[in-house]
Amino acid sequence: MSKTDVILIGAGIMSATLGSLLKELVPDWEITVFEKLAKAGEESSNEWNNAGTGHAALCELNYTSEKPDGSIDIKKAININEQFQLSKQFWSYLVNSKLIKNPEDFIMPLPHMSLVQGQKNVEFLKKRFEAMSKNPLFQGMEFSDDPEKLKEWLPLVMQGRTSNEPIAATKIDSGTDVNFGALTRMLFEHLQTKNVKINYGHSVDDIKRTSDGSWELKVKNVNTGSVERHTAKFVFIGGGGGSLHLLQKSGIPEGRHIGGFPVSGLFMVCKNQEIVEQHHAKVYGKAKVGAPPMSVPHLDTRYIDNKKSLLFGPFAGFSPKFLKTGSMLDLVTSVKPDNVLTMLAAGAKEMSLTKYLIQQVMLSKEQRMEELREFIPDAKSEDWDLVVAGQRVQVIKDTEAGGKGTLQFGTEVITAADGSIAALLGASPGASTAVHVMLEVITKCFPQQIKSWEPKIKEMIPTYGVSLMEHPELIEEIHTSTGRTLGLTRELALVK
Ligand SMILES: Cc1cc2nc3c(=O)[nH]c(=O)nc-3n(C[C@H](O)[C@H](O)[C@H](O)COP(=O)(O)OP(=O)(O)OC[C@H]3O[C@@H](n4cnc5c(N)ncnc54)[C@H](O)[C@@H]3O)c2cc1C
Repeated sequence: MSKTDVILIGAGIMSATLGSLLKELVPDWEITVFEKLAKAGEESSNEWNNAGTGHAALCELNYTSEKPDGSIDIKKAININEQFQLSKQFWSYLVNSKLIKNPEDFIMPLPHMSLVQGQKNVEFLKKRFEAMSKNPLFQGMEFSDDPEKLKEWLPLVMQGRTSNEPIAATKIDSGTDVNFGALTRMLFEHLQTKNVKINYGHSVDDIKRTSDGSWELKVKNVNTGSVERHTAKFVFIGGGGGSLHLLQKSGIPEGRHIGGFPVSGLFMVCKNQEIVEQHHAKVYGKAKVGAPPMSVPHLDTRYIDNKKSLLFGPFAGFSPKFLKTGSMLDLVTSVKPDNVLTMLAAGAKEMSLTKYLIQQVMLSKEQRMEELREFIPDAKSEDWDLVVAGQRVQVIKDTEAGGKGTLQFGTEVITAADGSIAALLGASPGASTAVHVMLEVITKCFPQQIKSWEPKIKEMIPTYGVSLMEHPELIEEIHTSTGRTLGLTRELALVK
């Protein structure tokens, strides 16, 4: 039996971020990681399993809603933007301290654009632009409904467009493409040099509280089948889709009445490099009526393995697995006596989502191409392949506003009352806000230490605890300093 201060379950971006924060705050704490796969960042955090959008609410239309009086509510967009600024500051700290190198291997500057068609949508986008561009967090946003301007911004999208329907876009050059897989691997390589024990090929099969209040984990070596026991004073369940089952095994009351519903993602990838080179942006459209927010279609330039790629999607899909490498029994075995009513209520309420997912699963390649042609009218079937992305497990819980069995689209941090264990459930806005979410874990789980850790947190993340909206003078400063360190102010010509 081995004893350690902290155990992190799972080697995705969340554990990588929490481990990196804790190593800076308390370097002498012993940290052990268990990951069932052979490498870090192989599930949702892998570059091919997510869209790599540095979510700062620059282009995602689902973060801004139209109020009944016709005005646009940008509160959520401000919130997400502020959270992304925390991530950029922490990554800059790591680069400046030489704890990780070559930021261009995980983050690239890339314009973020929103694109809509139809008079009503154009009017919505214009109002949204007017509300956002006044805000210093979204400075530099441009709007155009002039086809000639749009041709300059989006040559591939405008080429061969015959429809007379009104069309408009917004563009902001301070967007990013983030390779979360590369970042996750870099962070674990760094942690390994700081004596963090990372055990790949080790699956955590059970979690129990011991008589002294710490946690005992039953861990199976997936290669040899041997079983080990490890204890820790603090456990973080960062198992991605695997977190719900582990939370249930811990038996903490805070984990009761919670269920999960898996939604898989599929992307189309362009294999014609000539086409890839004609596009340079992340372009988000509007979700179809009845579609859940995570299936907003977007056409994305990506930088993966030092190569420019072009992806379109995600199409939603259904698989009962909670992880891409999970089991077909994941959904069934997640239903427990304490959450069965919650799950049944969600099943009855979410018939339209079920119907939508079934329709998505049934789509033929040609039908998917038709959706792509709303973005690239000339797209040819032979230039595009379908790839399966990651699984997202949406949280289902009982809420005051939504009632029993309400489907949640955000992330949820669940912690035991004594702060000795925390789990991260849900998937959105996801990896981009890992620093904010892991700071929430630290605040909730280490209330005794957080005051004394604040100076170090502020050294790493200067605007920690400060609202940028209330201190607009800091925005320019943060943009400039993180931009310089992370290479985001490079001439666009250089990164094309
Ligand atoms: C289609 C899609 C598109 C997305 N697009 C974006 C985007 O554009 N921008 C963005 O910011 N976010 C995006 N996300 C969300 C983002 O990918 C996730 O929020 C993030 O990667 C989750 O990280 P994680 O560390 O929690 O989980 P993961 O990266 O899934 O890591 C969990 C790890 O735990 C391991 N594990 C599980 N169970 C066990 C166990 N019992 N024992 C040991 N190890 C275990 C797994 O093998 C895995 O390695 C997207 C997600 C999907 C699916």
